[in-house]
Amino acid sequence: MNVHDSERLSGLLEDAGYARAAEDTAADIVVFNTCAVRENADNRLYGNLGHLRPVKDANPGMQIAVGGCLAQKDRGEIVRRAPWVDVVFGTHNIGSLPTLLERARVQREAQVEIAEALEHFPSTLPSRRESAYAAWVSISVGCNNTCTFCIVPALRGKEKDRRPGDVLAEVRALVEEGVTEVTLLGQNVNAYGSEFGDRQAFSKLLRACGEIEGLERVRFTSPHPRDFTDDVIEAMAQTPNVMPQLHMPLQSGSSKVLKDMRRSYRQERFLGIVEKVRAAMPQAAITTDIIVGFPGETEEDFEQTLHVVRESRFAMAFTFQYSKRPGTPAATMDDQVPPEVVKERYQRLVALQDQISWEENQKLIGREVELMVSEGEGKKDGEHRRLSGRAPDNRLVHFAVGDSEEPRPGDMVTVEVTYAAPHHLVADSGIRNLRRTRAGDAWDARQGKPVQVSKPDVLLGMPKIGVPEEQPAPVGGCCDA
Ligand code: SF4
Repeated sequence: MNVHDSERLSGLLEDAGYARAAEDTAADIVVFNTCAVRENADNRLYGNLGHLRPVKDANPGMQIAVGGCLAQKDRGEIVRRAPWVDVVFGTHNIGSLPTLLERARVQREAQVEIAEALEHFPSTLPSRRESAYAAWVSISVGCNNTCTFCIVPALRGKEKDRRPGDVLAEVRALVEEGVTEVTLLGQNVNAYGSEFGDRQAFSKLLRACGEIEGLERVRFTSPHPRDFTDDVIEAMAQTPNVMPQLHMPLQSGSSKVLKDMRRSYRQERFLGIVEKVRAAMPQAAITTDIIVGFPGETEEDFEQTLHVVRESRFAMAFTFQYSKRPGTPAATMDDQVPPEVVKERYQRLVALQDQISWEENQKLIGREVELMVSEGEGKKDGEHRRLSGRAPDNRLVHFAVGDSEEPRPGDMVTVEVTYAAPHHLVADSGIRNLRRTRAGDAWDARQGKPVQVSKPDVLLGMPKIGVPEEQPAPVGGCCDA
């Protein structure tokens, strides 16, 4: 969500006439888009602001702006601690940035403006996307849950859902521009629709994305196990361009800890969803987030987490050692787990997950996969020059390219997996098929290269592995909502 908002901030500034500073040149404006979920966000922010102070002293016309969750939380505190900051804006009013910069310049004083409610859905603001071929599309912001470790509801507010017609119009416009992969974003995508009273709105949205010609890959993040309903699993399995990938935060495998976290599902429910997803999409890669050492977590509770990890066989897990976030209920809970215990459990969890990730990756050796080529310079490794791409299940694959082959970011290549490491795969036996796409054309256009227009890639009706062809793919009706 933070990256999505940063792209909007760049777009807003470009629309207002600013141009991106070249690398290694002094910028006239520096904007920090902060994330309070990250550990030590405030130390890092004030450290960075401190580094910029002498730069600003040497260039008094320079402006510094701070936005995002930390700005929403600390408000006026930022200009008290760093009076050389020109603008502070919150999560709800990122659209005000150009105006605030202008006002600070004219009035020669810091402008602090924090809105309490969302002014514009960030997606309605101009954007400067980092990628030519992949885009974030926000379907909701905020969250109605109250997980005790999380600062998001305090800073992003209650869930606000965007109308399905607006989401789909944005996706279609992106596809027109050459985008072939979208990631639908929300703090809790499964709750999408609760604001306008349609509990199945998210599955309808997925199916409607499946009707958009030229859209090759649809991903989403993140679902909440509490709201994960069967219609979403069915829509995933039956919609060819919805990728066989699910990132579903577990946080803890212990039902007692989940209760203390105020996460209203239990171990059995989580494992039940995993089982259904595996039955519907045997090829799906399931990934997760896990917090180790939440207050009150006993060795037995931690063992429950290891149990769920063993049962679920996640392709990958983002693992975190619990640390207090000021302003959250968990920060003041009794029974904080000693750091050395947290660290030791964390190491055991990482070792187990790495082993599982590696075993799961090894199962893919010899399999053919179609990759969407990522941006980035090719790397020489021994005799091979390699580029990288993402498989449908979002696994990272480094693949060998011949000297004369130059697939562009956004193009699709078919390769065979020849080697597996815990966190990536390698395909060194050459490209079996290269499919030039409109996304690759869009990338060429960004580089100022002459563009040969590739044909739209029509995917409708293509069966997904593991899903019988005869299963109908119902038409989504949420465009009408
Ligand atoms: S579901 Fe919980 S962890 Fe996720 S954003 Fe909402 S409150 Fe935070």
